[in-house]
Amino acid sequence: MCLAASRAFADEAAPFVHSGKLMQGGVMFGRTEPGAPIAVDGKAQGVASPQGLFVVGFDRDAPGTASVAVYRAGRWMAQSFDIAPATYDIQRIDNLPQQMVTATDPAIIEREKADRALKDKAFASRADIDDFKGGFVLPLEHPVRTSPFGVQRVLNGEPKAPHYGVDLAAPVGTPIHAPAPGLVVLAEPDLYLDGGLTLIDHGQGLISMYLHQSRLDVKAGERVGRLQPIGLVGMKGRATGPHLCWRMKWRDRNLDPSLMIATEAPKA
Ligand SMILES: [Zn+2]
Repeated sequence: MCLAASRAFADEAAPFVHSGKLMQGGVMFGRTEPGAPIAVDGKAQGVASPQGLFVVGFDRDAPGTASVAVYRAGRWMAQSFDIAPATYDIQRIDNLPQQMVTATDPAIIEREKADRALKDKAFASRADIDDFKGGFVLPLEHPVRTSPFGVQRVLNGEPKAPHYGVDLAAPVGTPIHAPAPGLVVLAEPDLYLDGGLTLIDHGQGLISMYLHQSRLDVKAGERVGRLQPIGLVGMKGRATGPHLCWRMKWRDRNLDPSLMIATEAPKA
């Protein structure tokens, strides 16, 4: 009995195939059976797309091992992966307006609260699409990378949240292109800290963000194609110069968008 059971296990195909960068801030694109339930680190995380595709993101401070499981043939089948560490510098920015570092003005506190509510609602989007599958390109044509993902920030001497984006410097008015297809789930022209902000849902819990825009060219609810113009670079909100802050989240985990470039989902 035991022999037969272990033999049956060994003969089974791998529960899924995957591509991507298995490191802190990185992403895995997986392919398994259509609609198969997925669990990550022991927590249920939805089901694979009708093509069998799914996404797993690894947070800035992800532990050294991750477990990814799919439910197939009546049971969970898990694989564990080593997640490579990333290194993060400390970045000090001084001379910011104090109300943009820690607001004390009740009107600004209210505005930040309203902005957060809008963003939380958009981040809850779970579009039933797999628009990430062809991979991502840079959203600007000739960007200069000024601040990488993950740096620990000290603003006006106060330790603050890490930088959860990649800053791409470019003149005000430079067109921003959708780096992959998706569904626009938020397009707000003037948030307090983020300025003009667009959020695009690429499916399977993967949502990208474009901050500080001077102009938006898409609306919430619109589907966009790869390289479609979505707005213009600006310096609205908390920005010390014109740039695009490009961010990415998988569910509640913050990812490094630069690690998405040129990674395609495994082909069938
Ligand atoms: Zn930024």
